[in-house]
Order: sequence, then structure tokens, then C-alpha cells
Amino acid sequence: MSQIVETDVLIVGAGPAGAMSSLILSGLGVRNVMINKYKSSSPGPRSHITNQRAMEILRDLGLEDAAKELATPQSYMGEHVYATSLVGEEYGRIRSWSTHPASMAEHVMASPTTYCDFPQLYFEPLVVNAATQRGADVRFQTEYLSHVQDETGVTAKLLDRLNGQEYAVRAKYLIGADGARSQVAEDIGLPFEGQMALGESGSINIEFTADLAAYTDHRRGDMYWILKSGLGVRGNGIGVLRMVRPWNKWVCVWGYDLSKGTPTLDDTQAKAIVQRLIGSTDIALTIDAISTWTINRKYATKNMIGRVFCMGDAVHRHTPQGGLGLNTSVQDAYNLCWKLAHVVKGKAGSGLLASYDAERSPVARQIVEYAYSCGAKTNHMFDVLALPKSPTEEDMRNCLESLKAPTPQGAAKRETFRAAMDETIAGFGGGYGVEMNQRYASKAICPDGTQDPGFPRDAKRYYQPSTRPGAHLPHAWLTENQRRISTLDLCGKGRFTLLTGLAGSKWVDAAAAVAEALGIELHVHVIGPGQRFVDTYGDFAKFADISESGALLVRPDMFIAWRTHTTPEDQVTGLMNALKSILDLN
Ligand SMILES: Cc1cc2nc3c(=O)[nH]c(=O)nc-3n(C[C@H](O)[C@H](O)[C@H](O)COP(=O)(O)OP(=O)(O)OC[C@H]3O[C@@H](n4cnc5c(N)ncnc54)[C@H](O)[C@@H]3O)c2cc1C
Repeated sequence: MSQIVETDVLIVGAGPAGAMSSLILSGLGVRNVMINKYKSSSPGPRSHITNQRAMEILRDLGLEDAAKELATPQSYMGEHVYATSLVGEEYGRIRSWSTHPASMAEHVMASPTTYCDFPQLYFEPLVVNAATQRGADVRFQTEYLSHVQDETGVTAKLLDRLNGQEYAVRAKYLIGADGARSQVAEDIGLPFEGQMALGESGSINIEFTADLAAYTDHRRGDMYWILKSGLGVRGNGIGVLRMVRPWNKWVCVWGYDLSKGTPTLDDTQAKAIVQRLIGSTDIALTIDAISTWTINRKYATKNMIGRVFCMGDAVHRHTPQGGLGLNTSVQDAYNLCWKLAHVVKGKAGSGLLASYDAERSPVARQIVEYAYSCGAKTNHMFDVLALPKSPTEEDMRNCLESLKAPTPQGAAKRETFRAAMDETIAGFGGGYGVEMNQRYASKAICPDGTQDPGFPRDAKRYYQPSTRPGAHLPHAWLTENQRRISTLDLCGKGRFTLLTGLAGSKWVDAAAAVAEALGIELHVHVIGPGQRFVDTYGDFAKFADISESGALLVRPDMFIAWRTHTTPEDQVTGLMNALKSILDLN
């Protein structure tokens, strides 16, 4: 090997997980090298749904506005149409991604930002560019081959695919963000549960360009589900036209028989599938790319070994339903990187890093199982229609006729079908609680001794804010110079934040003393009349669940690490002990 490159963190993979890690570490002044085996970022759209938690992270990192410019807004995402073809008869719609007025209210109240449709194709270059501008060493055409770790670091062997030369990188830590076929996860022997390529059928994605505005702009949605004979998605006679750019860039999803191996379609065959789903051969279209994917249900029960951490699809592999893949990958990075920064800079003990596993491995399991359960809901809809696997034209005709029958049986079928269709919302925004309610339990969280009230409402469906340690800081609008600012905007940016009310003003001096003693960044915000931040709507007081003199200690990743309901006699000791415990400085 010709050369040894030294860095603090080596990141394998420049997809959403790797790129976000590189961006966050670079912003916090941690040296990092990020590699990608290929010559470009994701050429295909892949992920679309970018949820509020991921958008809040982009907001913290100063990229929310740039993301919104590249993304399609929520108002274009909401109508999920079920029809015989794009030009054909509709048999129902659901309002997805919180566009139902009732869910919209909940959505708007929960966060300073919104869902958007931000194809990975545009997401990755934005984040990789920003990471580079903030100082990351980014190397495309560079392949990870292997690594060894010892007590002080990791030495990885890389291949420069431009010149065929191998070289070594010596890093303090290694992040494996190398996707669903992760070599890093395999090399450190992470334990997995579940399976890849489940079921009898896989899916074919056909990317195409066609102006379909005449059929979509009056019923704006991200997906148009089309009932057709043949082997569609999950073996049902169903195909999907998925918006990439309204209304001329699309992905058409159709099915294939897994037992016959991965199909190789030419453009003419691909075009014929797209035209069947559109229901017309008169619309000009060009095929841009063809790829395949399978139903996966697999997660790692542990995501780190020593100095090596895995994140993103490397540790959670699941179906696109629920739109949780990219979003969870982004949150993995946001969880780990502030911890790495504190440890690398000598401001925390290495025990802090173990909380990455304790906090994120349960999330990996939860989202994989949730995404899988959503697929079952879609299948149920087709069971209700009494469609056989791979239905014929006659099956389809009978099915649609039975939905129109002016009989009690027809009415019963319509009712059951409507209920089953409504249930599919689980995969398209109905898992709002899954997205928003994550609670952490680890050594980087100090319990406050209060009883966990659990979730009074369905925890998968409804967001239920809390300030108990381990919960995400709730959003409330405050004002600064008469302008609205979110509680979330006061926190993040790689540092700890203490939020208190006017009667808690003494926390300012206590926090300054603790920050100086520990050498960490800790900002205090006193929220109240006459202060920089004013609780103008009274919402902070309502959600804080502490008295005005109490305090919420918010970690750099917006999770509440500690809280006190009132001012304790010895504020410095209380806060100091909490932070020492969180940062493994005892
Ligand atoms: C059809 C489809 C639709 C989806 N829709 C959504 C959605 O709406 N919302 C959502 O949140 N998610 C969605 N996802 C999931 C999302 O695409 C993934 O969860 C996300 O890409 C995971 O990011 P990652 O960074 O972990 O992995 P990847 O994006 O797979 O990136 C892995 C990176 O590692 C690199 N790499 C791999 N091996 C090596 C090596 N040996 N050396 C160097 N580099 C290597 C790759 O080149 C790549 O840069 C969808 C996925 C599919 C397939």
C-alpha cells in the first residue's frame, strides 16, 4: 500500500447516512474522510418522503431553505388515487402525508417545518456539497475493502478505482454507512434479525419522462395506484405511477416473479408497462432507467463494535412504505455525530458512544417492523377485493363490477373496501407517531424519577409531545423581536442548551460555571417577558411540564437529557452531575 491518510473519522458511503455524518462532523470541526465506491451520488430518485424530523435536522444545519427549493411541497403530495388507469375510472382516494385537514392541524402544530417530497437524487448532492464546503475530504471512486481496529484507532484498506492503487486510512473511528449490502457491518459481525427478498415477487422501477399534467394537476398526489391484470406489486395486479417531479418525471412500479430471477427489460417492454398503467399509447414518453428492488425486513440488533459504527440501511433494511429509510438514516447520523465530536475533542468519555447503540438499535427494529406491517395493510385491500395472485383481465373485470353492484352485497363490499383502503394510510403518513414519538433510554439520558405516562393515544399514529428525559424537545413558537422563532431554533448546532423561564434566571450563572468547568458549549435561554425570547403565545409554558424556575437540558440532537421541575438549592451541582453522567465524565 502506497500511502497512509490520517483522519478522525472515516465514513464509508456517501448516501444519506454517510453524507449527513460528514456534514455534521465537518460543521463541528471534526476531520473526516468520506468515500463512495461509485463516481456519482444516487442517480435514481429512490427516497422521496422527507419527514419533519429530517427537515428539522436540515433546518438546524442551515439547509432547510435549500432543501425546500429542490423539493416538491406537501400540497402536491396528498391525493393517493386508486384507479383502473391514469386516464381511467377512479375507485377511491386517500389523503396521505398529513393532508387530511385533521392531520394537517396536528402536523402544523408539531414542528416548525413540514413534510416534503425530496427525491434522493437531489438530496444527496445538496448534502455532499455542503459537507465539502464545510471541510470534508470527499473521495468518489474509492472502495472500502477491509479494516482492523485496535485500542487507539482503525486502519482501513481502500481501493482508488481510478488508478487501481490500494491505500490505507488511519482514523480514530469508522462509520459504515455503506447501505443494505454493508461490507462494514459484515466485517464487524453485527447480529441481524429478519430476512431480505421476502415473498414471491420483487418490484421493477421504470423511471420515465412524460407530461402527465392533464391527468394529475387537478388531483395532486405523489402516487397513483393502478389496478391491472398480471403480476404487479407484491404479486397483486397493481402498479404504481410515482411522481418524481410534477408532472413530467415519474417512476412506474410493476412486479416480477422472484423465482425467475431478476428480469432484464428493454425499453420497448418497459414502455409497454408504463402505457398500460397510464391507459394510453398516445402520450409521448421516454424511458430513463430501469432497476429492481425487493421486500426486506431485516435489522441489526447491535449497531457498533468498539470503534466501528454502522448506520442507515446498513442496519435497517425494509420496504419503502412509511417513507422511513432516508429519514431514519439522517437521524442515525444526527444521533451519533455530536457524540463523536465530543469524544474526539476530549469533552466526553468514550462511554458516551455506547448510547448510540442503546438509543438507535431499538429504533431500527421498530421502523423495520412498522414498514413491514404497512405492506400487509396494502395487501389486505386486495384481499378484500378478492383478487387472486396475478389476476387475469376477467378477474379484474369481475372485481370492479362487484364494487358497482346495486345490491346489499355490493354495498357491503364497498364498505369493506373503503375501510381497507383507509387502512393503507398507515404506510403514507399514518405512522406519524412512529416518525415523531421516539424516546431514548441510555446512559446519555438522566431519568427525573417521574412515572412514564406512556402514550394515551395510539403511539404509532399520533404524535404525543413530552419533556420527560429521553423525549424529543417539543416545538412551540416563541417570538424574538416580534418575529416567530421555534423552541427548536434555540437548540442544536452541536451544543447543549438549557431552557428555563423568567423565575429560573439564576440558571444563567450556574450553567456558565458548569460549562467552564467541563469545557463544553452550553447555552442558556431564559424565556419570558422582557427577555430575548418571549413566550408570546404561552405555548412553551403549556408544554414545558416544569415550573418557571425549573430547567430543560437539551442535547445537541434536540433530545431532552435532564430536567428539573424547580430550581434546586445547589444548581451547579445538580447540572454538573447530570452533564458528567451524560458525557461519561465520572
Ligand atoms: C424504491 C425506493 C423508495 C424509497 N422511498 C423512501 C422514502 O420515501 N423515504 C425514505 O426515507 N426512504 C426511502 N427509501 C429508502 C432510502 O433510499 C434508503 O433508506 C437510504 O438510501 C439509505 O441511506 P444510506 O446512506 O444508509 O444507504 P445508501 O443510500 O444505500 O448509500 C450507501 C452508500 O455506500 C456506498 N458504498 C457501498 N459499498 C461501498 C464500499 N465498499 N466502499 C465505498 N462505498 C460504498 C454507496 O456507493 C453509497 O454511496 C426508498 C428506497 C427505495 C429503494
